[in-house]
Amino acid sequence: MIPALDRTRALLDTPPPATIPGQLDLEPHMTDPATIPALAVACPSCGSTPGQLCTSHGGSRTRRNDVHQTRTAAHHAQTRSTQ
Ligand SMILES: [Zn+2]
Repeated sequence: MIPALDRTRALLDTPPPATIPGQLDLEPHMTDPATIPALAVACPSCGSTPGQLCTSHGGSRTRRNDVHQTRTAAHHAQTRSTQ
């Protein structure tokens, strides 16, 4: 067996490194609810149900990277009241 080939196989079998602290997250999973904790509650502004993204302009545009400030506030209020 060729050593270089063994090394390549070993590298391919190695899982990718864990996220580096402070590293910019460039992967397109900004809608992951884990990145927007406020998605756990309904939005008082646009009426989105828990787990759904906020919408703007009467629902014609999805807010992919953030939620309404009222929703964040509602989530904070709920988090505070349950702890
Ligand atoms: Zn909203």
